[in-house]
Amino acid sequence: MTEKYIYSFQKGDGKNKVLLGGKGANLCEMTQIGLNVPPGFVITTKACLDYLENHQLPDGLLEDVKAHIAEIETLSGKQFGDRRNPLLVSVRSGSAISMPGMMDTILNLGLNAQTLTGLIEQTGDARFAYDAYRRFIQLFGKVALGIDDQKFDLHFAAVKKQAGIKSDVGLDAEHLRQISELFLQVVLEETGKPFPENVYEQLELSIKAVFNSWMGKRAVDYRREFHITPKMANGTAVNVVAMVFGNMGNDCATGVGFTRNPGTGVNEMYGEYLVNAQGEDVVAGIRTPKPVHELAQEMPDLYKQLVDLRNKLEAHYQEVQDYEYTIERGILFCLQTRNGKMNATAMVRTSVEMMAEGLISKEQALLRINPELLEQLLHPQLDPENKAQPVAQGLPASPGAAFGKCVFDADTAELMGRAGERIILLREETKPEDIHGFFAAQGILTSRGGKTSHAAVVARGMGKACIAGAEDLQIDVRAHQAIIGDLHIREGDTITIDGSTGLIYLGEIAMIEPSFSEELKTLLSWADEFAELKVHANVDTPERARMALSYGATGIGLCRTERMFNASDRLPLVIDMILADNKEARQQALTRLFPIQRDDFQQLFEAMSPYPVTVRLLDPPMHEFLPSEHQLEDEIKALNLYKLMIQGQQVTLDTLGLQVLLPTPFNHLNEDVINKAIAKKELMLKKVKELYEVNPMLGHRGVRLGMSYPEIYQMQIRSILEAVALCTQQGTPILPEIMVPQVITLQELIKVKSFVDQIQQEVESQYGIALEFKFGTMVETVRACTRAGELAQVAEFFSFGTNDLTQATFSFSREDAENKFLPLYNETGLLEDNPFEVLDAKGVGQLMKMTADSGRLTRPDIKIGICGEQGGHPQSIRFCHHIKLDYVSCSAPRIPIARLAAAHAKLLEDDYRMG
Ligand code: PEP
Ligand code: MG
Repeated sequence: MTEKYIYSFQKGDGKNKVLLGGKGANLCEMTQIGLNVPPGFVITTKACLDYLENHQLPDGLLEDVKAHIAEIETLSGKQFGDRRNPLLVSVRSGSAISMPGMMDTILNLGLNAQTLTGLIEQTGDARFAYDAYRRFIQLFGKVALGIDDQKFDLHFAAVKKQAGIKSDVGLDAEHLRQISELFLQVVLEETGKPFPENVYEQLELSIKAVFNSWMGKRAVDYRREFHITPKMANGTAVNVVAMVFGNMGNDCATGVGFTRNPGTGVNEMYGEYLVNAQGEDVVAGIRTPKPVHELAQEMPDLYKQLVDLRNKLEAHYQEVQDYEYTIERGILFCLQTRNGKMNATAMVRTSVEMMAEGLISKEQALLRINPELLEQLLHPQLDPENKAQPVAQGLPASPGAAFGKCVFDADTAELMGRAGERIILLREETKPEDIHGFFAAQGILTSRGGKTSHAAVVARGMGKACIAGAEDLQIDVRAHQAIIGDLHIREGDTITIDGSTGLIYLGEIAMIEPSFSEELKTLLSWADEFAELKVHANVDTPERARMALSYGATGIGLCRTERMFNASDRLPLVIDMILADNKEARQQALTRLFPIQRDDFQQLFEAMSPYPVTVRLLDPPMHEFLPSEHQLEDEIKALNLYKLMIQGQQVTLDTLGLQVLLPTPFNHLNEDVINKAIAKKELMLKKVKELYEVNPMLGHRGVRLGMSYPEIYQMQIRSILEAVALCTQQGTPILPEIMVPQVITLQELIKVKSFVDQIQQEVESQYGIALEFKFGTMVETVRACTRAGELAQVAEFFSFGTNDLTQATFSFSREDAENKFLPLYNETGLLEDNPFEVLDAKGVGQLMKMTADSGRLTRPDIKIGICGEQGGHPQSIRFCHHIKLDYVSCSAPRIPIARLAAAHAKLLEDDYRMG
């Protein structure tokens, strides 16, 4: 065999996760830094890929496995398949990226009728040996031979019932022997062959089964959901490790831990253990484990060793670790470690504290957090004022609150979730095959298992609320209900769960927006120290501006003035302006709108003082402010009918067979009022028909409105400049900017600038002060990109409107693309990402780069930013940093994400350049 497919733990490169998988690499690393790891070896991910491609194990692999088993034999002093002193091994999966529970693992491999006797003699504990045997037969049967778990479970339950025993620990050696016999029988019946006695055959089948599980549905779904590409993880490694037992008696235990609390980030011993148990019992939530602090009383010496292990792990990996251990007859073994998956609260707190402790640098503190994770911090919490009484409590397993309809199985959850329902998934305990239910659910509630159970770990990873081990709840999956005392909660009933306290409530409880923690403020202030890009907000009201400020925005990059037009006190005026059939009538409506707009701008400038505020002149087509043609026609019909009714004419239900909303209240109205209403609606209808466009998004909008109706733009410019004057008069420091949308020619810009110059003069002389502001343009048409050099003669700044620019570059609209063909394009790789979410660096990005370059040639100090939605997306932010924009502007809730992403962009700029 030329290729090296197997590495012992003493030899494998602990940094090479791609080849050895995360678990394998860490087992090598831990062995090499002197931690007590059972002996073992790793079969590489490359072997897995070769196997999956050729449908057979690589040549010579099995011989090499034998050679490495021999090494374990030497180190452990036990023999594989030996009748007297048998070596048992575990066969565990592990890819480059941790995918908890998604692939298969087999324990106690090496047991057969012969070695079983040896194990009994060796341990003097027949109960233990039969217990190990029956577990192995079931696990091997399921994973390697594809036998349904239930076939075994039925026999297990029957023996328990017959013996009148409730808990598994009550089973004695004889019961377990019977169970093992029955299980062997199941294998024979289901496969037509006896259980394999040859230990190397067991090993070979298990290795193949683990390799195959890489392509199992569970694992494939998981990779798709979390965007794990082959570049990130390709194939699973197989770890073959000497078994150590936590279930050989009361001086044995098994446990899992985090080096810090993964729910809160607090620096404390965290985890759970079970005395006299095997690791799977803790993780699967079959028995509810004890908190690790109790180990300090129960096994003080081992607790100290565990604290020591925890400290060594953190110091070595400089990262919070999620580890598993077993105590076999008073000796502590570390079985696995990996970087801990934590929620955003915990990530932020640990970053800040580990930096303060000197464990990591500021850069590491920032880089270890995926910016997108911060979105979790903006998840709702239960309103502390709520007076609702909880009906039960479980363990707070993943913080955040959620409400939804109860569902008792993952398939229904998936169906209801797809239909847009909010779901809480209730299970006794969850298994990896429930994963699609997790995706669909707002929260997860289990009646069994601890904080490290499958449900808890997966929910935390997804940032979903989870309560585990709510033992007061009796979950009856068949009847689709949960019972708490006399209370029956049925499928479809709404409940609220609080994953931070473990409390469960009936109905929907009010939630509040979370506030920023001190740690997050600290972390983001570090981010600002590194970031070169500034982060501005797309907001239109003083209230949202204050929110954006509290999230750390240092300006408003886009105020869409049309949003101000839509408020109920302005819309009638805007409609009057649109309906006006001559300039004078339009001017009258504008005169009434003017003071309202001026006050809006003044408040906005004040709220954002002293930061820049970019106000964009009117952009959308006029018809957007009017009802649709259909609606108007219906309303006119309804008004005419109502007129007939007050005239005393008979109006039958048939005449009324219309689906219309009559404006209310009507009964006090007289015919005259109705006639006026009809006349107005008819005028609106006429206008709507006049304004009709085949393709309004590419039609009469943006600066083109300003050219056709200069008085509208002039009113807006005057409102802005008077607001500037008023703020200046008051001594409020402001940095206003006027921005023109949809520009395609220099002449358009010159025209609008001429309005600005004229009005500036008038306002300056009216207020007797000089006005300071900038004038610039959106760049959101392809022509603006190609003419950027000349636009910069007039524009003091550019702001990329990448929503429109993307539509223009791709020649498809977001709505049609996302509803029709974009999912197909993304799934089949025709297009890597959704370009409306992730900036298309190769296409749109090239236009941006060209624009920025030619703009800077004309005006070297031109300010350039982005205000399309992609401006809040980390990957897009890296590109914006790369082409040296001055700022990104995004919606308020994405500001923390953008601040961290801007720091990442700077810290990782070399990697980005290298591609
Ligand atoms: C844009 O086109 O990117 C933009 C910000 O403008 P709007 O989304 O308002 O068209
Ligand atoms: Mg636009």
